[in-house]
Amino acid sequence: MTGWIACPGGRPHWGERGAAGLLPVASAGGQLVVLLCLRSAGTDAGGCWGTPGGAIEPGEDPWTAAVRETAEEIALGGYRRAGRHAGRCPRCPWSYITFPVTVRDPAPVAVRSEITQAGWFAASAVPSLRLHPGLAREWHRGLAGAVTAIARQAEVN
Ligand SMILES: [Zn+2]
Repeated sequence: MTGWIACPGGRPHWGERGAAGLLPVASAGGQLVVLLCLRSAGTDAGGCWGTPGGAIEPGEDPWTAAVRETAEEIALGGYRRAGRHAGRCPRCPWSYITFPVTVRDPAPVAVRSEITQAGWFAASAVPSLRLHPGLAREWHRGLAGAVTAIARQAEVN
C-alpha cells in the first residue's frame, strides 16, 4: 500500500515512492494524437485531464507501476515503450515518471476505474485542456518535445 506525502508549500502527493504513468501517442489522419484520461472527482486533481497512471507500490519499478495502473484504469492494448520522462515536483523530491508509448490504432478505449472518460486529443490541443497541474508543467518541460520526436519515427507514421 501507499499513501499521501506532504509537500512543503504545495498540495500533498499521492504515492510515497513517487508515481508513474503512460502517455499513449498515435497518428490519426496525419495528425499526432495523445490519449488522456479525465480523473474522477475524489482522486488527486479530480476533474482534470491526466495520463493514466498512479502510485508506485513497494517492489515495483516505475515502468511496472505505469503498466499496472494503466491496466486498472483503461483497456489499452498493443502499445510499445518509446521513451522515459522524469518529472519532479518543484518544491520537493517527489517524482512522476511518464513513459511515452506508441499505439498503432487510436481507437476508443474502455474506462475501468478512477477516471470518467478517456479520449484521444490532437497533441497541439493539449495545452488548452484543463490539465493535471503536474502534466501541465511537464508538458512544457519536455513531454511535448518527446511526443514530437516520436512522430518522426516510423512507428506512428
Ligand atoms: Zn512536492
